[in-house]
Amino acid sequence: MKKYVVIGSSAAGVNGIRELRKYDREAEIVLISKDSEIYSRCILHEYLSGMRSIDRLRFVEKDFETLYRVTWKKGLEAVGLDRAAKEVILGDGTRESYDKLLIATGSHTFFPPIKNMAGSPNMIGFRNIDDIEVLKEAVKTKKHIVILGSGLVGIDCATGLLHLGVKTVLCDFAGWLLNKQLDHEAAQAYIDAFAAHGVEQHYGVGVDEVQINDDHEITAVVLSDGTVIPCDFFVVTAGVRSNVEFLQESGLELSRTGLVYDETGRTNDPDIFGAGDVSGLSPIWPVAVKEGMIAAANMAGVPEKMSDFFASKSTMRFLDISTMSLGEVNPDPADETVRVETYRKGDVYKKIVHRDGKIIGALLQGDLAYGGVLQQLIARQIDVRRVRKPLFDIDYSDFFHMHSDSYEFYYE
Ligand SMILES: Cc1cc2nc3c(=O)[nH]c(=O)nc-3n(C[C@H](O)[C@H](O)[C@H](O)COP(=O)(O)OP(=O)(O)OC[C@H]3O[C@@H](n4cnc5c(N)ncnc54)[C@H](O)[C@@H]3O)c2cc1C
Repeated sequence: MKKYVVIGSSAAGVNGIRELRKYDREAEIVLISKDSEIYSRCILHEYLSGMRSIDRLRFVEKDFETLYRVTWKKGLEAVGLDRAAKEVILGDGTRESYDKLLIATGSHTFFPPIKNMAGSPNMIGFRNIDDIEVLKEAVKTKKHIVILGSGLVGIDCATGLLHLGVKTVLCDFAGWLLNKQLDHEAAQAYIDAFAAHGVEQHYGVGVDEVQINDDHEITAVVLSDGTVIPCDFFVVTAGVRSNVEFLQESGLELSRTGLVYDETGRTNDPDIFGAGDVSGLSPIWPVAVKEGMIAAANMAGVPEKMSDFFASKSTMRFLDISTMSLGEVNPDPADETVRVETYRKGDVYKKIVHRDGKIIGALLQGDLAYGGVLQQLIARQIDVRRVRKPLFDIDYSDFFHMHSDSYEFYYE
């Protein structure tokens, strides 16, 4: 009987376990995680705002452990890996042996080296449930919250704080919020909506230093343009690092961003696999789920491969504004090989970026109905130059055909 060990009880690890059990009814499966709860990080802001209880953050079946026959060692940290003995070394001094190992340890908040900031007690990241517990407690007394970073995590945090009676300030080095997913025009809809809710925003500026009191508590944040913002609690969402510290001596290949594995999830050790944010490459939930499933299939001897298709797809809804972002939405204006088409009617904004007839990026805001067609156009690499009508009017019938002899459908 094989023994699988999975480290990490989130998107990649949990979905890996579901898949392992599907392919191997007999195997022993052990899950190890620092987390003592299974919860979705994507909805932590709803726990902060009070919209959800901890129970409703859980994304697995109530009886997950029994259903998948998993021994879950919760609240335990992997601190090392002995590949020669095929054992994971745990924080309590024990070891867990494995035949095949899945590393799905995700990432942690990176606190940049801002002057005076290290060791401040009134500062936190926004990744784990413990962070949110601290922030929930803090906002009972702290009323000036500054968030560093306006990516998906920073915006989640700002959203969660909206109705908690605090003054929220967002600041980011980038020129606009969600700058990886949105262009300036799409971002402006959110900038205006947050401003209408009283959120102060500073873009295109870094944080040069924080001012502290005798207890080392942050009292103000100083921006690179000289602005001084009062602050009694600081939330850092501007960077992450993969959780690979415990692998440093293991001989597993690590890159600048994290654990290295191929499209089957296999690392440079054939019995060790990786999945999810731990690679530091595409830190989004659907990619972690898919990679966990693919790695698990290969661990169980079922060959499967990851394609990076849609690693850059995001769908978001903040303050009742929905946006879908696909691929490259901010092409270099100097790149003459790229064509950009836009459409605007009221609150609806659409943008398509294409090169040599192939769509490489798109934005839909206010009306996502065209998303299905767009994803097909991108996935199937349809040459949109061949369709003789405006890009935003293309529908399935323009590239959906049937073989006259076999009656089979095909896209072209
Ligand atoms: C606030 C927030 C909002 C987000 N919103 C979105 C969103 O809207 N859409 C989207 O697609 N993505 C979103 N993401 C990203 C998404 O949550 C991640 O891509 C996803 O959680 C990655 O899953 P993972 O399993 O790879 O790792 P993680 O979710 O990071 O989980 C890692 C697991 O490993 C465990 N672990 C770590 N180190 C050790 C160790 N040494 N020993 C034992 N256990 C360990 C942890 O306890 C945890 O269980 C958001 C992330 C955050 C933080």
